[in-house]
Amino acid sequence: MKAVARLACTERAYVRICHLYDRPEPTISFEFFPPKTLEGEETLFRETIPELLRLRPAFFSVTYGAGGGTRDNTLRIVSRIRREFGVEAMSHLTCVGSTAAMVSKYLDDAHAAGIENILALRGDPPQGQSEFQPVAGGFAHAIDLVRYIKQRGQFGIAAACYPEGHLECPHKHWDWDRAAAKVEAGAEVLITQLFYDWSDFLDMYDYLRNRRGLTVPIIPGVLPFLGTAQIKRFTTLCGAKLARPLLRKLEAHADDDEAVRQLGVEVCTDICRRLLDHGVAGIHFYCLNRTTSCAEIMRNLGLSAP
Ligand SMILES: Cc1cc2nc3c(=O)[nH]c(=O)nc-3n(C[C@H](O)[C@H](O)[C@H](O)COP(=O)(O)OP(=O)(O)OC[C@H]3O[C@@H](n4cnc5c(N)ncnc54)[C@H](O)[C@@H]3O)c2cc1C
Repeated sequence: MKAVARLACTERAYVRICHLYDRPEPTISFEFFPPKTLEGEETLFRETIPELLRLRPAFFSVTYGAGGGTRDNTLRIVSRIRREFGVEAMSHLTCVGSTAAMVSKYLDDAHAAGIENILALRGDPPQGQSEFQPVAGGFAHAIDLVRYIKQRGQFGIAAACYPEGHLECPHKHWDWDRAAAKVEAGAEVLITQLFYDWSDFLDMYDYLRNRRGLTVPIIPGVLPFLGTAQIKRFTTLCGAKLARPLLRKLEAHADDDEAVRQLGVEVCTDICRRLLDHGVAGIHFYCLNRTTSCAEIMRNLGLSAP
C-alpha cells in the first residue's frame, strides 16, 4: 500500500482514502449517520460496526447533519472508529450554514482528533428553502470547499458525483463537468449519489474517464432498500429514478418490508456485479446503520470473509 501517513498523535499508520483503492480486490466502505442518542451510538459501536468489520471494509464514513447539527457527533464517531477499531474513517463536511472560519475550526478539530480524510460537500438547501444560499463568508459550491481544504494540505479529499446529474443541474454533462472540476481542484476520489440503473453509472464513468481523462477512483454509492415508502422518498429527494418495472415490484410489496429488503439485495447485487465486472475499484454502501442487506450482497458477490 502506497503513501502510508504516520500520525505522531496516535503512533499508528493511517492512509489517505485514495490509496485504499490501490489494492487488487474491491475496496468496500460503509457510510453511517450519527445516531440521535448516546444509546444509539453505543449500539453502533457494540453491534453494528463489529458486524460490519466481519465484511472487512477498507474504511467507514460518517455523515454531517444538515446545517451542521451533528457536527460534534460526526467528529466524535469518526475519531472513535479509528481509535477503537483501528480502521480508517472519513468525516463528511458540508458548506451549509458555515463561514470559512467555521469550516476552518472544524478542520482544526478534525486534524487534532487525528482525522485525515474529508468528504467535501455543498449540502442540500435547509428545509423551507428551495435554493442553496451560502452564508456571508461561506462557500457556494463544493468545489470552493475542496479548494479550501486542499490549500491546508492536511487531508485526503473525496467529493460527490451524480450518475443521473444533480437534481438542480439542467444537463447531466454540465454536472459531470463540475465533478471533473472538483477533481482538478483537489478531490482524490469521487463517490456517487444512489442510483438504480447501472447504465447511468457507466455513462458517467465512461464520460469522466474517456472524455475528461479522470484517473481517480469513481465509486458507486449503493443503497439497499428498507421499505417501499423509504426508497420512494429517498429517490424523490435526490432525483434518482426508479424504472417502472422496479417501481411496480416495490409497490406490490408496499406492506412487506422484508420482501422489499430482499428485492433490494437482488437489485443491488446485480448493480454491484455489473460495475465490478466493468472495473470499478470498490463499492460504497449507504448502510443506514444496518448490516443484514450489505452482508447478503457481499456474500452474493463472493466478497465475504471466509
Ligand atoms: C456520497 C455522498 C455523501 C453525502 N453526504 C452528505 C452529508 O453527510 N450531509 C449532507 O447534508 N449531504 C450529503 N450528501 C448530499 C449532498 O450534500 C447533496 O447532494 C447536495 O445537494 C450537493 O452537494 P455537492 O457536494 O454535490 O454540491 P456541488 O458540487 O456544489 O453541486 C451542487 C449543484 O451545484 C452545481 N454547481 C457546482 N458547481 C457550480 C458552479 N461553479 N456554478 C454553477 N453551478 C454549480 C452542480 O451542478 C449541482 O447542481 C451526500 C451526497 C453524496 C453523493
